[in-house]
Amino acid sequence: MINRDGYTISLWQQHISAFPLSSKHEDKTYDVIIVGGGITGVTTAFLLQEAGFKCLLLEAANLGFGTTGGTTAHLNTLLDVSYETIEKNFGLQASRAIAKASANAIRFIEKMTQEYKIDCGFQTADAYQYAQNEEQDKALVREATAATNAGLDVSRVATLPLPIACSSAIQVKGQAKFSPLPYLYELAKEFENLGGVILENTRVTDIAHNETVDVTAGEHTFSGRKLILATHIPPGINLLHLRCVPYRSYAVAARLSQNDYPQDLYYDMEEPFHYIRSQEVDGQQYLIVGGEDHKTGHHENTNLCFRQLEAWVRKHFPVAEITQRWSSQFYEPVDGLPYIGQLPGEEEDIYVATGFSGNGMIYGTVAALLLRDMLLGVQHELEKILDPNRLKPIAGFSNFISHNADVAKQFVGKLIPAASLPQLADLAPGEGKVITYESEKMAIYKDEAGELHTVSPVCTHMKCDVSWNSGERSWDCPCHGARYNTDGQVLNCPSTMALHALHVAATVK
Ligand SMILES: Cc1cc2nc3c(=O)[nH]c(=O)nc-3n(C[C@H](O)[C@H](O)[C@H](O)COP(=O)(O)OP(=O)(O)OC[C@H]3O[C@@H](n4cnc5c(N)ncnc54)[C@H](O)[C@@H]3O)c2cc1C
Repeated sequence: MINRDGYTISLWQQHISAFPLSSKHEDKTYDVIIVGGGITGVTTAFLLQEAGFKCLLLEAANLGFGTTGGTTAHLNTLLDVSYETIEKNFGLQASRAIAKASANAIRFIEKMTQEYKIDCGFQTADAYQYAQNEEQDKALVREATAATNAGLDVSRVATLPLPIACSSAIQVKGQAKFSPLPYLYELAKEFENLGGVILENTRVTDIAHNETVDVTAGEHTFSGRKLILATHIPPGINLLHLRCVPYRSYAVAARLSQNDYPQDLYYDMEEPFHYIRSQEVDGQQYLIVGGEDHKTGHHENTNLCFRQLEAWVRKHFPVAEITQRWSSQFYEPVDGLPYIGQLPGEEEDIYVATGFSGNGMIYGTVAALLLRDMLLGVQHELEKILDPNRLKPIAGFSNFISHNADVAKQFVGKLIPAASLPQLADLAPGEGKVITYESEKMAIYKDEAGELHTVSPVCTHMKCDVSWNSGERSWDCPCHGARYNTDGQVLNCPSTMALHALHVAATVK
């Protein structure tokens, strides 16, 4: 099993072991440095190395540590942001280009699985979106029209091959599903075979743009002619943090009591919607259902989201056993399309790919193909449409990475008697809470042994207060999605610095 940026264990994570790194050279200078070992970073690194660039891939933890290890891996052209919205915000030409690029991304993944004989259970499927009331019927008609205009092969169907009632439904052909981590690993292996270098456990903490782009990661410094931030959201402070809203989505995997797993992809139209599919992993079929999305840090009891999702699954399917529950983070772009290209506020040479909504298997692959073309100087019809600079940079937002959060340190080393913290009395082992002591806030986690882990709740990114995520046992920032473990160590960008430890010496039974 590999690590992921949360406490829960995903189906994919459970069924894979550490990537067998074989990179041999550790030069200091590269053509392109790619930061982030998810589907975006690994696919981009592979394509650029294949195109003749000398590439270095830096990953803060392990390959698949981020959302790629916590995805549900539908490969769909029927996207989370409706084609109606895309057409309204960007025009018909753009919605056609997005539909085409999404289909190309699925074909690219299929081609990779065939060419490299990747054992990732890739299978083509149809997608069904279904309505369950009059209002949804109307929205579905509009979406069917917009998706057809965008070039998707959409048909109306009377019923679903699923034990769920609907009032209307559409079917879209040409979709697929797969296990994301075996796919990721094979691309990473091929990248290394081509001479690419991967370094895991190497978190980038500073970036300086001189004649080259110089990247600091722990004790190392590397230089590249180009830098690609495939970190899901760029680290540091950037305009894109105001243009991408962090969300958490939940998933469960289940074994059914009858061997009748839905083979296609299904989406209802609830708010938030449920997404359903199945996958065979190590010879066992699993039903995988996702949903219960909410803005990061905006839900007090995230365990409740799992319970609600599980109840929904049990209501509709003959569940024998829920085998995994997990959640992960995604970023919703404010205008509906991802931001792929040059990082706003920076000159050339630094690129970013973010704002994928719940379609990052597709958009991560689109990003890799687009960035490869950009670096090769080949025109791509999405370059302008997805340009992160389509939103004009705001003065003062160009300084990214290098910012020192000046958070309160008054509590460091201070002995606080347990009696002064009555709020801790009802804190159960495994729970966390932000409490106030002498008008200062502390984020306190009590571990299973009753030990307290106390940090400042002030996010080191832009100084918002973090919230406790009970499901993932992490401190999550509601502002821009930075996340920290119970000791305050960074789990997710955009933060690059740990929460300040407070070393409160209170003993609470
Ligand atoms: C529950 C859920 C279900 C989803 N289901 C689907 C789906 O069915 N289909 C679909 O297409 N999309 C889906 N998505 C979205 C998709 O999974 C993501 O968009 C995609 O995985 C993002 O990939 P990525 O490579 O860009 O980012 P990530 O996978 O998050 O990878 C980023 C990597 O960068 C590393 N990193 C971060 N900061 C640094 C640093 N400073 N230095 C070095 N490394 C760093 C991280 O450790 C991480 O490994 C889902 C998302 C969620 C939350």
